[in-house]
Amino acid sequence: MKYDLHLHTTASDGRLKPAELVKMAVDRGLEVMAVTDHDSIGGIDEALSAAGKFPKIYVIPGVEINTDLASGELHVLGYFLDYNDHDLAASLEKIRESRVGRAQKMIEKLRKLGKPVEWQRIQELARGESVCRPHIAQAMLEKGYVNSEREAFDKFIGRNGPAYVEREKIKPVEAVEIIKHARGIPVLAHPADIENLDDMIVELKAAGLVGLEAYYAQYHKPVIEKLVKMAQKYGLLTTGGTDYHHFQDGGEIALGSADIPKESIEKLFGAAGRHIDLS
Ligand SMILES: [Zn+2]
Ligand SMILES: [Zn+2]
Repeated sequence: MKYDLHLHTTASDGRLKPAELVKMAVDRGLEVMAVTDHDSIGGIDEALSAAGKFPKIYVIPGVEINTDLASGELHVLGYFLDYNDHDLAASLEKIRESRVGRAQKMIEKLRKLGKPVEWQRIQELARGESVCRPHIAQAMLEKGYVNSEREAFDKFIGRNGPAYVEREKIKPVEAVEIIKHARGIPVLAHPADIENLDDMIVELKAAGLVGLEAYYAQYHKPVIEKLVKMAQKYGLLTTGGTDYHHFQDGGEIALGSADIPKESIEKLFGAAGRHIDLS
């Protein structure tokens, strides 16, 4: 396995700094990786400069934008973004601000439930980047309210939990448009559980969707095969990755262990007007 196109850093809810993530990818022998933080491109500069020290790894600047459906969330990945684009920075900043408001409301709910956590601590854990629910879970664990971050989700901040608050809603089409505007390649992330997937693909393709994340490391073979067929049906390219966060909770799939065909990587580069010589 030499490629991983879905990775998180401390710029969102990942636990490794971008340079540490690149180092781990190099140590695991990866040729191509993408940094795809939630609603943030804050890790890209550091990842690219870290990659400069290693001749054999290519780092694709990316993002994962969280959007909302009536039935849950839908995530859109963006690759080869012009990450210096001012409109992109402004759009992501706006989305991150909605995360701050949401986190503060969740903290208020937790306080009323007798489980106060400090906003300052959440901000420290988020390190000035996207504030995510795992940061709240971490703070709750530190306080001893729960025995694991998973328990914080199960009992308090998960979708049906008493301290859950929805984010300001963003439509999937808007995420595709934000990525297109920054000359990136929009790809539908971990699509297997999306309701009415065909309809969603048709709608997003009209807005500029280019790919489907069929080779998601958590999917079993039949699911991957179904998604690859779907990609063919709609003329989309395929990508894949592990969604690695370095959570170290025992349940996480190792970085670089998604089985992505070489042709998928070449097609993604081709769609971005680039060429890569893979071994
Ligand atoms: Zn996701
Ligand atoms: Zn992800």
